[in-house]
Amino acid sequence: MVKVTVDAEACIGCGLCISSMPEVFEFNDEGKSVVIADADEGMIDDVIASCPVAAISR
Ligand code: SF4
Repeated sequence: MVKVTVDAEACIGCGLCISSMPEVFEFNDEGKSVVIADADEGMIDDVIASCPVAAISR
């Protein structure tokens, strides 16, 4: 499992990471993505690469 972080300043709340991996990301009250769990190694790099503002780090 991989520990990931979301840069809340950069996140535009597009929801892509949340729909791709709802077990890892969810919306906070401000409509930004927050990390709720460690991520599966096999999928996380694709989600990181698909964030339009590169807000996800591992
Ligand atoms: S994919 Fe990126 S911009 Fe979109 S909600 Fe996730 S962290 Fe925010």
